[in-house]
Amino acid sequence: MMPSEPQQVAIFGSTGSIGTQALDVIRSHPDALEVRVLTAWSNAGLLVRQALEFRPECVVIGDESAGAWVREGLSGSGITVLVGTQGLNDAASWPGVDVVLTAVVGAAGLELTLTAISCGRRIALANKETLVVAGDLVTRAAEQKGVSIIPVDSEHSAIYQCLAGEAMEDIRRIVLTASGGPFREWTSDAMKHVTPADALKHPNWDMGAKISIDSATMMNKGLEVIEARWLFNVMSDRIAVVVHPQSVIHSMVEFHDGSTMAQLGPPDMKLPIQYALAFPERWPASRPGVDWSTASSMTFEPPDTGRFPCLRLAFEALDAGPSATAVLNAANEVSVGAFLVGRASFPDIPRINEGVLSRLSGRATTSVADRLALDAEARALAAELMGTRVH
Ligand code: NAD
Ligand code: MG
Repeated sequence: MMPSEPQQVAIFGSTGSIGTQALDVIRSHPDALEVRVLTAWSNAGLLVRQALEFRPECVVIGDESAGAWVREGLSGSGITVLVGTQGLNDAASWPGVDVVLTAVVGAAGLELTLTAISCGRRIALANKETLVVAGDLVTRAAEQKGVSIIPVDSEHSAIYQCLAGEAMEDIRRIVLTASGGPFREWTSDAMKHVTPADALKHPNWDMGAKISIDSATMMNKGLEVIEARWLFNVMSDRIAVVVHPQSVIHSMVEFHDGSTMAQLGPPDMKLPIQYALAFPERWPASRPGVDWSTASSMTFEPPDTGRFPCLRLAFEALDAGPSATAVLNAANEVSVGAFLVGRASFPDIPRINEGVLSRLSGRATTSVADRLALDAEARALAAELMGTRVH
């Protein structure tokens, strides 16, 4: 079934991995979806090409140095061009938008998500860091406004689908599957010499740089545990992680009667992106489902938090509270950024994350401003622990 009026979509982070795949989904459902707002931090050339193809009302380029270039590229098009962080926030309240896809990377997604919620926009949430920084504040704001947050992350989309029609009190636990990343079988010693190029090679998914490194350290699964806590309102003792290298089962829900429901599909982010944009409908797509015609196998193993301490840190932060998870996220954004430019080693990532978390995990913040101030403090401490300042 298709809606009679096309849904108006705002994409934040349209030039990234999720953003470009979302535009593929929109391109194949022109009667159901229309682009109203496109934003990116950089990659002005791609942003202008996207704007000329999809004709949104508003385009935002975050990087101010590229502002004039984007204005020039879109002159005469009738498209409004906004620039900088203020432009991003202004676009989050752009009128006439039905659904906001948050596909920016990092804590930068928090404020625009809160603005979109305050305007009553439905949220298709890819930007998991927003819930890691302020899941308490974001879910409360959404509840107060009656806004739904539909997950785009494949694991959470799987859980959302398994929970359809079920009562939350019937659920024993949520089981997140993890691919284990490119170093699943490596020893800690071997991981000391990992380069960014090694870590960017994910076995099953083609993603942006930050989430690829998070997958390699398994911090991504830790961030997803925290994301699940807020999306599904379950505590950490009811969230489990299992390593499933084939990434066919995207996650599972176990019920009190011992039954487990799972969602399966090929590793293709367009599926959960489309599900989030189409919800509560399901639209056709040409992609094949799981291929059962040839022999294959699925394997499962417990995660090894000795070799992947970031997963343990995420559970510890979750139990310490939302300010602690914000601290862990900030430290991780800095340590991953430093690793990507060769200023930190791979084992530095959990070392810095743990150092910052242990020093700042006792802080309690309950407003957005205080949470963002703590985020800034954690970033500064992470840079200090590394011996170099990294922005
Ligand atoms: P990406 O790096 O490929 O793209 C990020 C996009 O956001 C780009 O358009 C970039 O210009 C923009 N951006 C970057 N920094 C920004 C800032 N400070 N302010 C505003 N815009 C900014 O990232 P991605 O892989 O598409 O991931 C986006 C989000 O989706 C992340 O939170 C990630 O964890 C989540 N996610 C991604 C995947 C995936 O397959 N790529 C899967 C699940 C969840
Ligand atoms: Mg995921």
